[in-house]
Amino acid sequence: MPVKKLTRPKLTLMEKLYLPAVFKGLAITLKHAINSMRGKTPGAENFNGSGTGVTMQYPETRWDDHLPEYYRGTPALVTDEQGRERCVSCQLCEFICPPKAIAITPGEIESDDPWAKVEKRPQEFDIDMTRCIYCGMCEEVCPEQAIFLRKDYLVIGLDRKEMVHDKEKLYEIGGVREGLVNKWNELK
Ligand code: SF4
Ligand code: SF4
Repeated sequence: MPVKKLTRPKLTLMEKLYLPAVFKGLAITLKHAINSMRGKTPGAENFNGSGTGVTMQYPETRWDDHLPEYYRGTPALVTDEQGRERCVSCQLCEFICPPKAIAITPGEIESDDPWAKVEKRPQEFDIDMTRCIYCGMCEEVCPEQAIFLRKDYLVIGLDRKEMVHDKEKLYEIGGVREGLVNKWNELK
């Protein structure tokens, strides 16, 4: 195959100094700075706490009202409308979790319990939020729709222990989720 040699174009003096690009960048920055001071930034109404339309005055102003439905925040456990635990302690989420953030200790449901047909529920269920990458795999794999990524993003702890969400905390964040839960289906 014939080879075609291309000559590399030589840089002009201005290009070698990078000055046009530098001034162009400064002009864009200046334009946005002036617009923000005049409150003319597109979408400024979403940041109304700042007064300039660019920065958000956190924590007074937050994203909470603007988070999309598919936002992936803190993973949490949910109960059904009657306060029953949806989780059957199958540990699928524990094994699929990429950073190994979930640790479950399965527990037996006593035979005299009205819901004993399900047999298991989590005795302990911990999610280490210093490891969680908010990937949503736990939610996807769960056969009982027991674990969901909520919209919470304020995960705060003063030490590593506080960053591990235990079962109680997970249910507190998760709350109630309505809808079909397969394990309560008597025909199943
Ligand atoms: S969101 Fe991902 S990383 Fe976090 S607990 Fe679920 S599977 Fe693990
Ligand atoms: S949350 Fe879902 S996947 Fe995880 S142990 Fe419970 S039932 Fe299984």
